[in-house]
Amino acid sequence: MASAVETESADGEPRIETESGGTLAARIAHRIEETVIRRGWPVGETLGSEVGLRERFGVSRSVLREAVRLVEHHQVARMRRGPNGGLFVCAPDAGPATRAIVIYLEYVGTSVADLLEARLLLEPIAAGLAADRITEEGIETLRAILAEEFAGRDDPESSSEDPLHLMLGALSGNAVLRLFIDVLTRLTARYTHTSRKLSRAEVAESKAVRHEEHSAVADAVIAGDGARAQTALAAHLESVAAWIEKYRVPRASRITGAVVEPEAVEGPGAKLAEVLAGRIHEDITERGWQVGMVLGSETDLLTRYGVSRAVLREAVRLLEYHSVARMRRGPGGGLIVAAPEPQASVDTMALYLEYQGVSAADLHTVRNAIELGIVARVTERLTEGDPVAAERLGRAVRRPSEEPSEDPDKGDLFHTELAALAGNPVLSLFLSILTELFRRHAAGHEQPMPDAQAHAHILDAILRGDAGIARHRMRRHLDTLTPGWR
Ligand SMILES: [Zn+2]
Ligand SMILES: [Zn+2]
Repeated sequence: MASAVETESADGEPRIETESGGTLAARIAHRIEETVIRRGWPVGETLGSEVGLRERFGVSRSVLREAVRLVEHHQVARMRRGPNGGLFVCAPDAGPATRAIVIYLEYVGTSVADLLEARLLLEPIAAGLAADRITEEGIETLRAILAEEFAGRDDPESSSEDPLHLMLGALSGNAVLRLFIDVLTRLTARYTHTSRKLSRAEVAESKAVRHEEHSAVADAVIAGDGARAQTALAAHLESVAAWIEKYRVPRASRITGAVVEPEAVEGPGAKLAEVLAGRIHEDITERGWQVGMVLGSETDLLTRYGVSRAVLREAVRLLEYHSVARMRRGPGGGLIVAAPEPQASVDTMALYLEYQGVSAADLHTVRNAIELGIVARVTERLTEGDPVAAERLGRAVRRPSEEPSEDPDKGDLFHTELAALAGNPVLSLFLSILTELFRRHAAGHEQPMPDAQAHAHILDAILRGDAGIARHRMRRHLDTLTPGWR
């Protein structure tokens, strides 16, 4: 039993924090979510009344209510009041997962080069899959998107970038690719919106070029020619990268700007607290995300945002959940800027993908693309000479046999280290999400021990600068990893 300390939550009620850092409420929320997954995500069914749930988990009303808020935030279930009330399973959309990931990636400082690298690894695969499984309906949709793009070519206000990419993600039939492409496309759009104002002629020219490239991709998909679709999409993304170079937007500049999109949460049924959390988050970003900075006391914030105390407190809970900010009590206290952690977005993404019914094959496809990209990047880096990095990888290969009692949840340290050395936070985060899903589905089975020999062989090829062999060995190694999937 983990020892627990009591701290004070945003509403002044005691909140139990366990050693692992999560609150008791967060653990209860996790158990509720596991139940929903185990039952096959039965939308509309009840998980029990508030009283029933309190008894089942043996927790106080305030702890259960905080757990319910988290589950509601994940769109896993919603509490209905009244005589026939209870906690009902609901159907999530990609919103919360996307927001969580964007919060984290923005905080760690993702550059447009990182985004384009990830897009080049994933989107051509989606285009290839879309070509393989295209239907008449899919053809109609692609044509409609292109027609709309063509119609809007003279309108500088119309954005013609996103729909085709999002549609190819959807047409790939791979839930993981679809979600990742969604995130990447949104992030890239945010970046291009912050670049300098272009002249009418520049806008018109770039729109014409993009439309031509999009048409080439769509033609190949419609023709069922997967190889050509992949090549055309890769060429298009290279051209987007070149466009960014041409307009001298530094490729290494960080994405900035509002991260929690107000339109994403201000729709019908949107909660005021989520809108407010979005505004506060925006303010934190605008001030350069200074961890430890005091944004103001509760009274200051009530005046600044003109909301009720209840709404502010719920918004603070959401910000605390994403580690965007924390409320500190007492003199010198107030809402304090925090450092986001990847775990919140990993959990939310993994949950959403569970709901989408992701398959082992879907995961395998995406994991291959990401890990092979990472291997290529690291090989390139080590060829330029980086003894510290080489030493780090060597340690990661040896570690499992030397320290067998290492936390099994950490999984394959070698892969995590490779991802870290590739230096692309998008790829590292995506890989954690995939690993988390593999881990969840292997639950109850023996977790395979990291294969130190396979890792050593991969590292050998990397150190020799032979990217071809290194990638081949990684591909073979990943084939052995699909666990007893259930
Ligand atoms: Zn495009
Ligand atoms: Zn491995």
